[in-house]
Amino acid sequence: MRLIRRLFASPGSVGARIGVALLGVALLGAACGSDDAGRSSQEPVVDVVASTALIADWVSQVGGERVRARSLVESGADVHTWQPEPSQVIAIAEADVVLLSGGGLEAGFESLVRRNVGGSLIVLADAIDLHAFAPGLGEAHEDDARDPHFWLDPERAIVAIERVRDVLIGLDPAGADGYRARAAAYLGEVRAVDAEVGALLAALPPERRVLVTFHDAYGYFARRYGLTILGFVVEGPEVEPSAADIAALVEGMKGAGAGVIFREPQFSARVVQRVADDAGAEVRPIYSQLSGEVDSYLGLLRANAASISE
Ligand SMILES: [Zn+2]
Repeated sequence: MRLIRRLFASPGSVGARIGVALLGVALLGAACGSDDAGRSSQEPVVDVVASTALIADWVSQVGGERVRARSLVESGADVHTWQPEPSQVIAIAEADVVLLSGGGLEAGFESLVRRNVGGSLIVLADAIDLHAFAPGLGEAHEDDARDPHFWLDPERAIVAIERVRDVLIGLDPAGADGYRARAAAYLGEVRAVDAEVGALLAALPPERRVLVTFHDAYGYFARRYGLTILGFVVEGPEVEPSAADIAALVEGMKGAGAGVIFREPQFSARVVQRVADDAGAEVRPIYSQLSGEVDSYLGLLRANAASISE
């Protein structure tokens, strides 16, 4: 509703005409809702736009039916290189709150979000202790660069999920009890999966406790579960690896006896396959975001542990 109020404040503008169109849609929605009065489910009262499908999953877990949660970057797309559709700019303006992961993850579209946001803007990483990238075989990141992929450490994800809960309570105090109850139940599940992943990976022999991945996203996961990042093909998905980078990675893998390189579904498998062929290694999946292969945060943690310990 925020967009409609805002646009109506400037009558006669293009915005006001869009506002009239949107009001029509809103009234249509209200009429449809009143048709089935006996329904137990309710219309959402909070409209949330999250940058990634993974954050939208957290919002849905905590928000339940009181919240409409959408993501800008759809499952299976790469957040680092993504650009919005015009309709998504409208969603950004219309939402009660836009949630960004932060730490530079949305560098390609964060300024567009800031220019167009109509409600509040919350950057989850602002409340998280972000560490530097883990040292690996690839070239070093800039000295002051922080690793934005904090959710791959469930302890840090818990801090962000608690923030999501508090943001929803702030926007919709009438739903506070439900948000608290759903968050408590979900955080219990996160802790249980964290323990399950920890037990699975702790059982691996030392030579299996190394990771070679496509992009440098698994520092938090590695630290949480006592793994070593041996290397990655590129620092960030926007970077094309050079022949020398690939040769160095292959040599490093051979030297360490690393038998596996992990691919991610949102990136081209071509370079990963070439490294695997040259190093005589096997390719397995690993996930930093939701995709057609993993559709929830807990599913992602479990799938990573299963793939590494397979
Ligand atoms: Zn990433």
